[in-house]
Amino acid sequence: MTTAFATTPSHARHARPGHVERPERLDAVLTRLRADPAWNALQHVAPLPVGLDVARLVHSDAYLRRLVEASREEAALDPDTYTTRNSVAVALETLGAVLAVTQAVLEGRTTCGFAATRPPGHHATPDRAMGFCLLSNVALAARWAEVHFGVERTLIVDFDVHHGNGTQEVFYEDPDVLFLSVHQHPLYPGTGAAGEIGHGRGEGTTVNVPLPPRTGRQGYLDAFRRLLEPVVARFRPEWILVSAGYDAHWQDPLGSMHLDAAAFGALMQEVMAWADAHSDRRLVAILEGGYHADALADSVQTTVRVLLDPEAGARDAAADAPDDAVDVRGLIRDLAHLHGV
Ligand SMILES: [Zn+2]
Repeated sequence: MTTAFATTPSHARHARPGHVERPERLDAVLTRLRADPAWNALQHVAPLPVGLDVARLVHSDAYLRRLVEASREEAALDPDTYTTRNSVAVALETLGAVLAVTQAVLEGRTTCGFAATRPPGHHATPDRAMGFCLLSNVALAARWAEVHFGVERTLIVDFDVHHGNGTQEVFYEDPDVLFLSVHQHPLYPGTGAAGEIGHGRGEGTTVNVPLPPRTGRQGYLDAFRRLLEPVVARFRPEWILVSAGYDAHWQDPLGSMHLDAAAFGALMQEVMAWADAHSDRRLVAILEGGYHADALADSVQTTVRVLLDPEAGARDAAADAPDDAVDVRGLIRDLAHLHGV
């Protein structure tokens, strides 16, 4: 079994000069992957043709109307989030790429998959665009899997350096989607405190791990092994979605964390072990942030190699982050107590 892969072929048409969420990010990733022998081992899938009706699985009609209007005028939907005349088409192509990988995995044609796409999605809420994000790609994949494949328990793991506020909002009262976010705190968008654990029937199926700046590989692994792994085992997901943001890389201009490509490989190995234990390795990772082009290319390359071969995949990855100066074991212990694991 292999790994499905999709991208956003027209992504360069969504661009604004000087903006950090720019086409060069994904171009660097694709250039790197095409030069890797792993490229030929991937099962390449084309984006599914999707319209705004699919986006209604998560987003309100009022927001989608606003998005279409903003694109006509090349406007900004919030101080960080631009649109161009092509942004709706590019955002839908990204969603189609995410769903094509999802379909390949849930139909059993591949075990896992990666969508190297832009714009990212995890800050977009049902009612508004935020933080460079237009459509909530991961949340839409989860809802689409429920509708088209009858999936009953979805795990979403978000290791982007920013809190996945949009994804959290969609599933905050939903007991059938476990949302785990490991992020730097304090940082944009300001949400994601430890006490945000879900509400109503969804209480306990949101887990936030707000880590201090300069947390490195060991701190992240402590969080994944001592806190998240037992929470995942309790939930027993049928499949796993990963909001794979790489702005916790030590070179990233937007974050202050101390991960490197090898550390991202190690985190993906942890998540792959969960997928092996609970979900027949069904796992779909979707690109979110990552704003240092070379660091992003290194990290995505390592991730794709780990998806193809969890043992060998991280072997050649760069382990060049500064020493991990932050001990987060006390924080992780408190969070494990909060979540009863
Ligand atoms: Zn981010």
